[in-house]
Amino acid sequence: MKAVRIHQFGGPEVLTYEDVADPKPRKDQMLIRVRACALNHLDVWVRKGLPGVPLPHILGSDIAGEVVEVGEYVSGFKSGQRVLLAPMHFCNRCAKCVAGLQNQCPEFTVLGNRVDGGNCELIAVPAVNVIPIPDSMDFNAAASVPLVFLTAWHMLVGRANIRVGQTVLVLGASSGVGIAAIQIAKMFHCRVITTAGDESKLDKGRALGADFGINHYKQKISEEVRKITNKEGVDIVVEHVGAATWDESVKSLKPAGTLVTCGATTGPNASLELRFVYSRQLSILGSYMGTMGELYEVLGHVFAGRLKPVVDRTFPLSETRAAHELMEKSQMFGKIVVNP
Ligand SMILES: [Zn+2]
Repeated sequence: MKAVRIHQFGGPEVLTYEDVADPKPRKDQMLIRVRACALNHLDVWVRKGLPGVPLPHILGSDIAGEVVEVGEYVSGFKSGQRVLLAPMHFCNRCAKCVAGLQNQCPEFTVLGNRVDGGNCELIAVPAVNVIPIPDSMDFNAAASVPLVFLTAWHMLVGRANIRVGQTVLVLGASSGVGIAAIQIAKMFHCRVITTAGDESKLDKGRALGADFGINHYKQKISEEVRKITNKEGVDIVVEHVGAATWDESVKSLKPAGTLVTCGATTGPNASLELRFVYSRQLSILGSYMGTMGELYEVLGHVFAGRLKPVVDRTFPLSETRAAHELMEKSQMFGKIVVNP
């Protein structure tokens, strides 16, 4: 098969389009023909070098495609069926996995991180990862859902206990997590404030349901939040930007507010004034991906049309390098998808 692999860590130039042996599924696995694989910032981190990534390596976490082969021990699927893949790897037998807390499994990783991903024509995965999609959903849209919608759902619902009518600050309207979090918060009838670096992205954020937009290059986020909320602050901040926004995110919280973070795109080092945390009784929560149960829950809303993935642009698999270059310029609104 054709695949894009990295043989060393580095810039987009290390992405190599080449011939690779077809994967051989085990009896408890299925072979999937990849029709679409969406990029995430994780692809860039893995490409630049993360611990535990074996080389050569195939990137790509968010996969949609068709069933090619169903292993002897697998039932309930047929060849040609249209599916997406849960973007995670877990042992499926430890105490955490059987309790439904797959993202706490000692073996947990994201597809395309410490295990090969979907920047290729064929992938073999355990049947537990394979989820049928409706006929009405195209592969590019389906591939744009799993990682970011699961991440945003786990942040808001699983971790921050979002409640109807709260005020939620979602950083980065144009990011995958931002697009998902705005819509999820609106589904809970929350008031949503979002941020972006230009007016066209803010307009798109408002089109997804955000009530207010803050230009984070021209305006100070916490000052605008104070104006919008009549000095109160927000109940929840959805953080994934990291160093560049951390102080503003913490300052935007109301007393007893919750900041939940799933990433640090602009850098992982931030400071935290502890006096502020205890005197204002803030909750600072970490969040990583989510559980299979949560994935099914959020997919139910996506398949029913209540939550919508946004595809920015598609590239042929052979042009994955150009897709990464676009991703690193942060010019997109929504998902960049490669098609084998
Ligand atoms: Zn496990």
